[in-house]
Amino acid sequence: MNASFWYDSWSPLGTLIKALGHEGPRSLRVPLLAKVAHATNPHGWVISDPRSDLALSLHMYLTTIPLPRVDLGPDSYDWVVDDQICNGFSSTRTWSSIRPKASKVPWHQTVWFKGATPRNAFNMWVANLDRLPTKTRLSNWGMNIDITCSLCDSLPESRDHLFLSCDFALFLWNAVSRRIRSTGLAFNSWPEMLAWTNQSNHDSPPTLRKLIVQSVLYAIWKQRNNAVHNQVHLPPSVIFKEIDREIKNSISARIINKKIKHLMSRWI
Ligand SMILES: [Zn+2]
Repeated sequence: MNASFWYDSWSPLGTLIKALGHEGPRSLRVPLLAKVAHATNPHGWVISDPRSDLALSLHMYLTTIPLPRVDLGPDSYDWVVDDQICNGFSSTRTWSSIRPKASKVPWHQTVWFKGATPRNAFNMWVANLDRLPTKTRLSNWGMNIDITCSLCDSLPESRDHLFLSCDFALFLWNAVSRRIRSTGLAFNSWPEMLAWTNQSNHDSPPTLRKLIVQSVLYAIWKQRNNAVHNQVHLPPSVIFKEIDREIKNSISARIINKKIKHLMSRWI
């Protein structure tokens, strides 16, 4: 009842002010100092319709938990490490979870490189950590939802299915491989895709491969959200045209003025 809506960690999204940012209180119409209970009335939760994926995830989570009520007793807190509830605070488990495990992750160069579109790099960073709210992940959080992929309507929507083996993704990888004079580009696993971005040949140096992978991943996730939230289904051929345009723009921006491009990516 007394937990702070924005500053306490009471949902799988963690502290909501961090997850949804300072625009959060305005977009959900929940005041910054509100308690969790203030976001409810006797009939249910009183927050605005979701305008982002994270806000949608929060909405979906709220449908799965009981409303806070005085007769359910006072709030209690659990210490959770790596999605597991500990019996009280455990310094060993907490430390082993948060300690720096490696100075540099192997995919660092694939995500953050000079010339990357920040929006695409961020999407790839979250995808690499497998933290995108795919239906399989939402279901693992306990949400009672249909996990069938919204793009092919046949297999469960996990990260690797959506981006690597879904028919929608296969069409795009195929279209990309024709463009770079490669044959039947397809990845059996996430590490295989990352490894490809660091290889090179005459037609596709690593920078081009990274631009391609980030652009394809972003386009797929955007289209998946369009299907889930707006029931808009566009054919992959239309999406490939968008990818094509974006890659051309990224390349020409680099060619015209490397310095400005460099500053701009910092500015954004
Ligand atoms: Zn699919």
